[in-house]
Order: sequence, then structure tokens, then C-alpha cells
Amino acid sequence: VIEAKNIKKSFENLEVLKEINLSIKKGDFAVVIGKNGSGKSTLLKIAIGLLLPDEGEIKVLNYDVKTKWKKLSKEIGVVLTNERSLYWKLTAYENLDIFGGIYGVKRNIKKEKIRYLLEKFNLTQFSNITVENFSTGMRKKLMLCKALIHEPKVLFLDEILNGLDPEAVYEMIEYLNELNKEGLTIFMISHILHGFSKNTDIYFLKDGSLKLTTKFGDIKEENKNIYDYFRDIIKS
Ligand code: ATP
Ligand code: MG
Repeated sequence: VIEAKNIKKSFENLEVLKEINLSIKKGDFAVVIGKNGSGKSTLLKIAIGLLLPDEGEIKVLNYDVKTKWKKLSKEIGVVLTNERSLYWKLTAYENLDIFGGIYGVKRNIKKEKIRYLLEKFNLTQFSNITVENFSTGMRKKLMLCKALIHEPKVLFLDEILNGLDPEAVYEMIEYLNELNKEGLTIFMISHILHGFSKNTDIYFLKDGSLKLTTKFGDIKEENKNIYDYFRDIIKS
């Protein structure tokens, strides 16, 4: 469902993405790791049509992202790092109501869907609180609710685990694993690597190109510190 060929992207004279090739199948769970500034967010933005690549082709759900990003946006869920993507003066419920409307969720099921999502993320008791009064973790959860309101086919997540307490990280990953098992394809950027199911593909972005390194389950078998494991890859 995500196919990228020879994607290149520079900012002025900074070559961020040199040659990205990617093939993600329906039902995959892909986690992209890499150092700060390596281009992970840039790649994600290109994949959802928010940035244009300088060269290369990218298709998501068979849409040519460069031209069909608007149609695509109705079929994907996106969480970027910017918490300002929520309406801060509106309540959690009002936010989901508005975004549900934007994504074309039918009126008769919208209310139930919002109730379900708020319940799922333990936000029910805060549904009438404005987002400006939410904690960072609560905002992250609400951003995920927003991304799921229209039942997308592919989910793009940029560092959604940042700012969550350890228990909330665990809960969030469990929930993502559950959604993935139900068939949702997930493309996720993360610096945190634990709790994923063993089939999760770990990609590593380095020197402007993306490598599929291993399945999450195989890292555990190495029985090594995850950072040592990737330090070895960085060296090679
Ligand atoms: P992090 O882990 O810190 O989020 P990242 O891997 O997501 O890092 P990007 O945000 O993709 O990194 O940025 C990659 C590089 O591209 C950085 O050096 C950044 O300064 C640069 N960059 C990103 N967007 C722009 C832009 N709009 N204009 C100029 N430079 C940019
Ligand atoms: Mg980033």
C-alpha cells in the first residue's frame, strides 16, 4: 500500500533523502527509527503529500501522492508531532466532532464512534475539557482518536509515543498492535522500541536511505541492548 521509488529531497544544499525505496504491504506494521535530523519526518510528510519530493515516485493506496493527495487524505490517518493540529479552544468532543465532519463520517455513527474512541483512550471523563487544558499525553491520545475517526486504511504516526508515561506507552502500543491485527497498515516513526509484536518491521533511516533491518521479534532473540544492536548497524 506504500510504494516509493528513488525519492530524493533536499532543503537548499542539505541533502536529506538521497534515495528512498520502500514497499509496504497491506497489514504491515513498519517502524522507522533513525537519529534526530536524519529525515524521518520529511519522509513521512512526503508519503502523505504534505511535501513534494525533488525526484522519485510515491504511491499510497495506489494513489499518486503528488497529485492525488486530497483523495488520499480521506483514506489515511495521520498524527504529526505538532499538537497545534487540534483546536485548543474547543473540547475533546468538539474536536472529534469537527474532524469527523471534515473526514466525512456519517452523522448517525459519528457520536457512537467518538464515544468509543474516547472510552478506548480513557478520555471519557475529559471529553468536555478544552484541549488547552489537556496534558501532553492526553493530547497525543486525542490526536490518535482524531486520526482514527474515519476508519482509515493506513495510519501514519510521527513520534506519537513521545511524552507518554511508561504505562501509556505500553497501552498505546498494545492498541496499535490490536488495530494492526484487524488489518490496519501502520507506518510509524519512533525512538521507543519495545512492546511491538514480533512481526513488526524495523526500518532504519541513515545517510538519506532507508534500510529494512529486522523484525522486532528477532531483536529480542539477540538478547542485547537495543541501542547496542543499532549502534552495530550504524557502524557497518
Ligand atoms: P527528529 O528525530 O529530530 O524528529 P527527523 O529525522 O524527523 O528528526 P526531519 O525533521 O525530517 O528529521 O529533518 C531532517 C533535516 O531536514 C533536518 O536537518 C532539518 O533541519 C531539515 N529540514 C526539515 N524540514 C525543513 C524545511 N522545511 N526547511 C529546511 N530544512 C528542513
Ligand atoms: Mg521528526
